[in-house]
Amino acid sequence: MTAYQLPDLIAEIKRSLNDNAVDVAELDRILGDGDHLTNLQRGIAAVDEQITHLQTLSWPIALKQIGMTLLSTMGGASGSLYGSLFIKMAASLPTNAPITIVDIAASFTAGVEAVKQRGKSDQGEKTLLDTLIPSAEQLQYDCHHNTDRLTLLRNLSETAIAGMLSTQSLIATKGRAALMGDKAIGHIDAGAKTSQLIICSIVAVLLDSPA
Ligand code: ADP
Ligand code: MG
Repeated sequence: MTAYQLPDLIAEIKRSLNDNAVDVAELDRILGDGDHLTNLQRGIAAVDEQITHLQTLSWPIALKQIGMTLLSTMGGASGSLYGSLFIKMAASLPTNAPITIVDIAASFTAGVEAVKQRGKSDQGEKTLLDTLIPSAEQLQYDCHHNTDRLTLLRNLSETAIAGMLSTQSLIATKGRAALMGDKAIGHIDAGAKTSQLIICSIVAVLLDSPA
């Protein structure tokens, strides 16, 4: 199965990040150094330049290429974290059998585990992991409980949003925001926000396409 949905997925992710650009830039200005959105947009633009080729590849090969592109173009802490996510997801997918939802959930979980290792971080530290960890856990839960496709996708979106919002009340113990102590409370982490936007964009495209 080729990554034929990639152009739609990338287009929706770009649209969503553009629509939320002012908010995300503001979040990283408050808690970080203000470059997170542009780092991510640079990485996605580099992926988009290869889209005609990427969509002809199998998912494991396409995801590996995406991860390596993000790693070499994004910069910032998030560049190596997103790079690790996609490279590990790629390595965790089956290469010689149709990809099932169980495979996708396992691959996403393995990718998130790689982000934890790379960032030496975990849930509750006010980072993108506060979106990614509960999202991966929810997906695992739903695909092992035979949740119907529509509910599974909606649960994934809702969990990503709840995870992103959870960062508001946290102090940061990783990344630049860790220097702010209590002053970080009340603000959402930029990486948690962009990873939520990406997950919700993927869900929106899948809700719009046949199973
Ligand atoms: P930088 O902090 O190097 O400028 P970015 O601005 O691109 O990098 O990304 C910042 C985001 O990366 C933060 O909002 C946070 O979500 C995430 N992040 C930073 N450090 C870590 C870490 N050690 N573990 C997990 N996520 C992290
Ligand atoms: Mg930054």
